[in-house]
Amino acid sequence: MSKVPDHRHCPVCGKVIPPNVKYCSTKCEAIDTKRKRELEFTKKLIYLLIFTLFIITIVSFLSR
Ligand SMILES: [Zn+2]
Repeated sequence: MSKVPDHRHCPVCGKVIPPNVKYCSTKCEAIDTKRKRELEFTKKLIYLLIFTLFIITIVSFLSR
């Protein structure tokens, strides 16, 4: 049985990195932080859109 030595991959570029670090470089860390922030922003935007549609539906239903 072949055992792969403990390692992980950089989530940004996929390089093999030691298991005790999260990214291969500070550059990759910055890219991932930015990506996550954009994802959070998109999620909030979607929630806001759903909420707005919900409110519009309620208001149009009540004003009938
Ligand atoms: Zn990287």
